[in-house]
Amino acid sequence: MKCSICDSVAVAEFPSLCKSHFIEYVEKKVFETIEKYEMFPSNIPLVATSGGKDSLTTLYLVKKYFGKAKALLIDEGILGYREKTIEDLKYFCKTFDIKYDIVSFSKEFGQTLDTALSVLGEKPCSVCGVFRRNLLNKFSLGYGSIYLGHNLDDEAQAVIMNYLTNRLDLLSRLGPVTGITTDSLFSKRYKPLYFVTEKEVMLYTVLMGFRVGFIECPYANESFRAQVRTNLNLIESKKRGTKRKIIDSFLKILLELKQKVSAPAGYCKSCGDPSPNELCSKCLILERLNKKN
Ligand SMILES: [Zn+2]
Ligand SMILES: [Zn+2]
Repeated sequence: MKCSICDSVAVAEFPSLCKSHFIEYVEKKVFETIEKYEMFPSNIPLVATSGGKDSLTTLYLVKKYFGKAKALLIDEGILGYREKTIEDLKYFCKTFDIKYDIVSFSKEFGQTLDTALSVLGEKPCSVCGVFRRNLLNKFSLGYGSIYLGHNLDDEAQAVIMNYLTNRLDLLSRLGPVTGITTDSLFSKRYKPLYFVTEKEVMLYTVLMGFRVGFIECPYANESFRAQVRTNLNLIESKKRGTKRKIIDSFLKILLELKQKVSAPAGYCKSCGDPSPNELCSKCLILERLNKKN
């Protein structure tokens, strides 16, 4: 199979492109997303980095576009997983001359994710998600915004998950640019890989020769998301373009959805973060942890 632009051998099928044209295609898509959705930093762009393929690609491309970037890694304390990805991140940052900060659950919350889960007996992704979002926001406030590695597959899964659970409030908080942008307690969240599929990120990472372990979080398979992902992949394999259509139709209603679902009024009485309830999700989890300890 030949590249649809030049005479070289294609490395990708849809669209069929050779190595250099595929790299160009991914980068163009990411840079156009940055421009279209005005994903501009107020000073140095801060990139949330897990050390995996999506976030390292984001880090690389944000640095390529803006000429500078800094990485922020959250260490949840997941034994046998996080150590390896921290090594990958350090190696990557050294290779591309990027500064990084590492913040940990254990230092910030007095618990690793592993110990918190053993105490709470709760679904890992819900606890992790709440803590992670909290720290990403806290440590990016000084930057005004943070770049995330969410790709098109992640977003399509999230859209479907929120439909299946009737969570229009959570659905309204998705999109290429998120965060309560009118509240100074929240930094904006940018997703430059919004239109790049998981497969495309994977191939891009390989072609660029990035050293990435491709290891998954050990908790990933326990989640509702994993079920949605498996089913979406099945549908996509039979009807190519399904994930993209999910995103396109979601973007058509996003603005009206945001107007329909109002942002949380009020603040957490414990930590002061914006929250629809007396206590925010993070403080609720911490309270339960403290009771059990
Ligand atoms: Zn070509
Ligand atoms: Zn709180």
